[in-house]
Amino acid sequence: MKPADFLCPECGSAKAASYMEVDRIGPPDRTLPWSGVLWMATCAECGYCIPAHLAERWGGLSVEEARREWREIFREWPDARRKW
Ligand SMILES: [Zn+2]
Repeated sequence: MKPADFLCPECGSAKAASYMEVDRIGPPDRTLPWSGVLWMATCAECGYCIPAHLAERWGGLSVEEARREWREIFREWPDARRKW
């Protein structure tokens, strides 16, 4: 994990407050996008929990693509505002 790669798709901050490994019981459920997220980062600025693959743009994801995926898929789920 390189914190320098963090970029919040919500507010654009490069400051991650913390990373959390997510404990999931059972296999990922395709109808619940968060169930496939293994790492998440908390943004130090806006406080949203961001899936690490979007915050760090794994697999060569562009900033725009990460932002779109965040807004369309993850942002509305209660997990995004969960306090860990
Ligand atoms: Zn943020």
